[in-house]
Amino acid sequence: MADKKNDKQDYSNPKVQTQVPGKVISMDDYRCHADGCKAKSTKAGFCEEHFAWFKAGLITKEGAKAQDFEKKYYQYVAAQKKAA
Ligand SMILES: [Zn+2]
Repeated sequence: MADKKNDKQDYSNPKVQTQVPGKVISMDDYRCHADGCKAKSTKAGFCEEHFAWFKAGLITKEGAKAQDFEKKYYQYVAAQKKAA
């Protein structure tokens, strides 16, 4: 009766395309958000390197440089050298 062995249900669903109004899905969405970076995004819209930048507060989540980028970058590089 309640035989659920047949779990291969065929819904024959056509691929539903979800369209978000006002937002065009382009290849850029799969690229790193950082300015001028053409690497593929791997984490939170950034490549490995720029995700580290984002974590360090060098860039915003939109990929824009922080206001005190120069100073932060200097500290970031210095920290990287220490870790190496
Ligand atoms: Zn990047």
